[in-house]
Amino acid sequence: MSKIRYSIIAPCYNEEANLPELQRRITEIMDKTGESWELVLINDGSADRTPEIMRELHAKDAHIHFIDFARNFGHQVAVTAGMDYAQGDAVVLIDADLQDPPELILEMIKKWQAGYQVVYAVRSDRKGETWFKIWTAKFFYRLIYNITDVKIPLDTGDFRLMDRQVVNAMKQMKERHRFIRGMTSWVGFKQTGVTYVRQERFAGETHYPLRRMIRFASDAITGFSHVPLQIATFLGFGIATLSCLAALAVVGARLSGNHAFFGQATTLVMVLFLGGVQLISLGIIGEYLGRIYDEVKGRPLYVVKEAVGFES
Ligand code: UDP
Ligand code: MG
Repeated sequence: MSKIRYSIIAPCYNEEANLPELQRRITEIMDKTGESWELVLINDGSADRTPEIMRELHAKDAHIHFIDFARNFGHQVAVTAGMDYAQGDAVVLIDADLQDPPELILEMIKKWQAGYQVVYAVRSDRKGETWFKIWTAKFFYRLIYNITDVKIPLDTGDFRLMDRQVVNAMKQMKERHRFIRGMTSWVGFKQTGVTYVRQERFAGETHYPLRRMIRFASDAITGFSHVPLQIATFLGFGIATLSCLAALAVVGARLSGNHAFFGQATTLVMVLFLGGVQLISLGIIGEYLGRIYDEVKGRPLYVVKEAVGFES
């Protein structure tokens, strides 16, 4: 088989209704390049007919390669598996729900040919998403930007093109709680963006409810920042300083015959406040500790049931 020029990676979790359309649109676009390409689909433990459809597509079209996971391992891990198996000189990550327009890939390829090694897609607008999702996402990207050391471009998702050199660098990053956007920024290389309007889902519903979004955000933050750990230190210094000043004030008041500081209510409120602060700090340490434990166990990132269409 000839060497593959472009690999398009699409993680799929219950995307049976989107796959045929995805294949059609990708084929239409990629055939325009006149070069060899593959579409790498990852079935992330879907409960619907996603794997069967992948098999059917593969039987009809040799460009389609797929990896079938033994269970659901999550979006970021599915993308990672795609990167491990992809063979192209340039690799594109795209969502299977057609929220990322495949047509943009041609624009990304142009930038790649001009010498950029990472071309990320910046969302100038989002269609068909609730204001809640839009605003929490906006807040999240800005928070990450401000508290992490890597400068992750604002309003970018995983939709991006990466050069083989970048993919190889990222394959060496074995962390378990993965935040692909942060990892691409971390490796460096020459990067640029192209803007697009994020579309509505072609079919189906989002698999990122609030609970998963929070998990995703905490993976991103703990993966790239120690700021939460330092919060306890800052709070500790702040509260200690305040209580020294308060002690002086109380002594002063008592000496001048003022008895305003009697009473359980004040004590109770202060004790509860400090208890709360301590529990939060402990929880933050726990978040990091849990992740360290996950890393130390050293389990494989994912388990593959079957990989079809790839050269050995
Ligand atoms: N996805 C996945 N595993 C999961 C959840 C999602 O592979 O556990 C895939 C999903 O099929 C889609 C992409 O990740 O191709 C983005 O997910 P989704 O569209 O639900 O997220 P949103 O676009 O709403 O942020
Ligand atoms: Mg989506």
